[in-house]
Amino acid sequence: YPPIHVVGGGLAGSEAAWQIASSGVPVILHEMRGVRGTDAHKTDGLAELVCSNSFRSDDATSNAVGVIHAEMRMAGSLIMAAADRHQVPAGGALAVDRDGFSEAVTKAIHDHPLITVVREEITGLPPRDWDLAIVATGPLTAPSLASAIQAQTGEDSLAFFDAIAPIVYRDSIDMDICWYQSRYDKVGPGGTGKDYINCPMDEAQYNAFVDALIAGDTVGFKEWEGTPYFDGCLPIEVMAERGRETLRHGPMKPMGLTNAHNPTVKAYAVVQLRQDNALGTLYNMVGFQTKLKYGAQAEIFRMIPGLENAEFARLGGLHRNTYINSPTLLDPSLTLKSRPGLRFAGQITGCEGYVESASVGLMAGRFAAAERKGEAILLPPATTALGSLLGHITGGHIVTDEEPGKRSFQPMNINFGLFPELEPGSIVKPEGVKRFRGKDKTIMKRQLIARRALADCAAWLGQTPRFAESA
Ligand code: FAD
Repeated sequence: YPPIHVVGGGLAGSEAAWQIASSGVPVILHEMRGVRGTDAHKTDGLAELVCSNSFRSDDATSNAVGVIHAEMRMAGSLIMAAADRHQVPAGGALAVDRDGFSEAVTKAIHDHPLITVVREEITGLPPRDWDLAIVATGPLTAPSLASAIQAQTGEDSLAFFDAIAPIVYRDSIDMDICWYQSRYDKVGPGGTGKDYINCPMDEAQYNAFVDALIAGDTVGFKEWEGTPYFDGCLPIEVMAERGRETLRHGPMKPMGLTNAHNPTVKAYAVVQLRQDNALGTLYNMVGFQTKLKYGAQAEIFRMIPGLENAEFARLGGLHRNTYINSPTLLDPSLTLKSRPGLRFAGQITGCEGYVESASVGLMAGRFAAAERKGEAILLPPATTALGSLLGHITGGHIVTDEEPGKRSFQPMNINFGLFPELEPGSIVKPEGVKRFRGKDKTIMKRQLIARRALADCAAWLGQTPRFAESA
C-alpha cells in the first residue's frame, strides 16, 4: 500500500501511526520536535507528557476514563501498553514514569518496520499528493500550519484558547429549586423557549457568592500563554472583581425570567445552565469560564441554589489550546468535509486530555487504514466510550443558543454524560438491599453503562468481552 502520512508525533499521532502500521499499511510520521520545539514540550521524545504524569482512573467498572483505557487496550493501543509497562504506584489511577513511557513509545515506533519517522515541521496543509493524511499536531500546533488550517476551514473554525465553563450532570441539579425557561421565553433555532435551567439567588446569596468568587484561589497563566482576555470571555472571578453589580448586569442578570416555583418573588440574580449535549444529560453554566482552581470551583459553585449537590462532568478553565470546530467541520470518521482523505486526531479535534487524545488517534488511525485497504470504515458503537467521545466531537454536541451562529463547542474529557442512556427499567434495586438511594442508583447506572460499553466494544472489535473487576 502507499503510505499514510501522520503529522505530529504526540499522544494521538503516535497511536494513529501504530494502529495504521499494525494493520499492515506503511506510515510516514512527521514530527517537528528535534527541528522546532513547542512552548510546553521539553524533549524530542514521541508522546511526551507535557504536565501531569497521570492517565487518571483505571477503574473500568464505574469510571468513564477507566472504561476508555480498557477499550483502548482491547484495540491494541500502543499508548496504553507503554503506560502499563511504565506504571508507577498511584492508588486507583494509572500514573506513569514519564521518561520511560515516552522512550517506550519512541522505541516501538522507530522499531516498527512499516513506520518511518521524519523530523520536520509541516508548514501548510498536507500536500494533495498525500492522498491520506492525519493532522495530530495538538494544542500547540505550530503557527504556520494553524494558519493554513484556518484558511481552509474559515476564520471562526479554529480557536487558539478554550474558555470552558463548568459542565454539570443534569440529574444532579435540584429541580425543586431550579426551573426551565429561556430568557423572555425566546425560542431560538431548534429551541423550545425552555432551553435553560435557571438557578435563583436572593441578595444575600448573591453577595456571599461574589465575595467567594473574589476570595477564591486562581491558577495563573503561563508566561508564553499571555493573558487572553477578550470581551465576552472574561473569567467569572475577574468580572466579580470589577464591581459588585457586574455579574448581575452580565451573565447573572435576572431579567426576563420568572421563578416557576415562586412566581411572585423576583430573583436578585440568576445563574443559567444551557443544554450541552444532544442527549440532554449535560448542562453548562453560561458565562462561567474561570481560572479558579478546581477545588475552589466545586466549593463555590455548590453555593448556587439548586447546585448544592451538583456533580461536575468537567470544571471550568481558560487555556492556550488550538482546536477546530469539529462538529461542523468533520464527518463521523474524522475526515475534513472540505478535503476528502484528510483526517484530524487528538486534542485539536476538541477532546481534552492525554487518554482522550490518544483514543481519537486510535480511531483516526483505524479509519484511515480501512480506507487505504478499501475496507468499510466501522465506527465504534455509540454505547462505547470511544463511540461516545467520537459522537461528541463529530456531531453529538448541540447548539441551542439564543444567538444563532454563536460558537459554543468546547473541549471535553470522556465522562458518563456523553454515553446514551440505559434502556428504561435497567436500574433495579438489588435483592436484599434495604435502602437504595440516589447515590446507589448513580453507581449502578455507571456500572451498567461501563459493562455495556465493554461488551459492545468487544463486539465491534470481534472479540469476546472480558469483565475483570478492574479490567
Ligand atoms: P501533543 O501531544 O501535543 O502532540 C502534538 C505533536 O505535534 C507535538 O509533538 C508537536 O511537536 C507536533 N507538531 C505541532 N505542530 C507541528 C507541525 N506543524 N509539524 C510537525 N509536528 C508538529 N492533558 C492531560 O491529560 N493532563 C495534563 O496534565 C495536561 N497538561 C497540559 C499542559 C499544557 C501546558 C498543555 C498545552 C496541555 C496539557 N494537557 C494535559 C493536554 C495535553 O496536551 C493533551 O491532552 C495531549 O498531549 C494532546 O495530545 P495530542 O497528540 O493531540 O498533542
